[in-house]
Amino acid sequence: MKQKKQLYEGKAKVIFDGPESNTLVQYFKDDATAFNAQKKDVITGKGILNNYISEHMMLAVSKLGIPNHFINRINDREQLVRKLEIIPVEVVVRNVAAGSICARLGLEEGFMLKNTLVEFCLKDDSLGDPIIAPEHIFTFGWANPNELKIIVENTLRINDFLTGLFLGIGIRLIDFKLEFGRHENDGKVEIMLADEISPDNCRLWDAETKEKMDKDRFRRDLGGLIEAYQEIARRLGIKIPEVS
Ligand code: ADP
Ligand code: UDP
Repeated sequence: MKQKKQLYEGKAKVIFDGPESNTLVQYFKDDATAFNAQKKDVITGKGILNNYISEHMMLAVSKLGIPNHFINRINDREQLVRKLEIIPVEVVVRNVAAGSICARLGLEEGFMLKNTLVEFCLKDDSLGDPIIAPEHIFTFGWANPNELKIIVENTLRINDFLTGLFLGIGIRLIDFKLEFGRHENDGKVEIMLADEISPDNCRLWDAETKEKMDKDRFRRDLGGLIEAYQEIARRLGIKIPEVS
């Protein structure tokens, strides 16, 4: 079999050339990082769980009619995706205060925001992903106003959908991060959702017990991360193979 060319190794995934020029393969690693990669570990089986959970989410987002990069899952650790020009902006959606906003604005964790808040951070680890305003996005040409409008509209639709999906399985969607990119096809450019939707980039709390079921289990040394991700998969009805 032809060896795939590695294009990039990130904190949680490796990106390889896909079989066609406008495709890529995302390989989900077991590496866990937090606090801008100052905290690192390997959690066996995390990559497999995120691959399956993200596949489930991307397929659901497709059914909503929101363009995204997912083509198909190749195996337990890899998925085939459309190659995008990534917009270097992390789109953070918050329904409930948790994580960095608590320190930044002096809020108590769990404070219900009176409306959904969309924040933007520059995707640049060397700068610590600083929070930015739409004006920065336009001034520095990371995206134009029309692109940002599509991104925010799609983000809010995804939030409404995911909030309901998770509530249906007894989980509160506290916050999450999305990435978008540009896909070129026959000279036409389309904004698409990229990357992954998994408990690595969402905060998910059990609606009854308030237990954290996301990467905060790693960030805060709570243990039981795999069990929490497995429980999410179980409630979503996703069959996960034995962890290896
Ligand atoms: P990071 O780069 O933040 O460490 P990951 O380890 O998850 O994150 O690496 C995945 C990388 O692939 C990210 O930089 C992400 O922006 C990029 N990416 C995700 N989907 C696509 C896509 N469809 N096309 C091109 N790049 C993508
Ligand atoms: N997030 C992410 N990648 C990042 C930063 C944040 O996936 O580089 C997610 C994080 O998992 C959470 C949401 O975005 O669900 C908000 O994160 P926050 O800004 O509170 O940052 P953190 O607490 O991770 O420093």
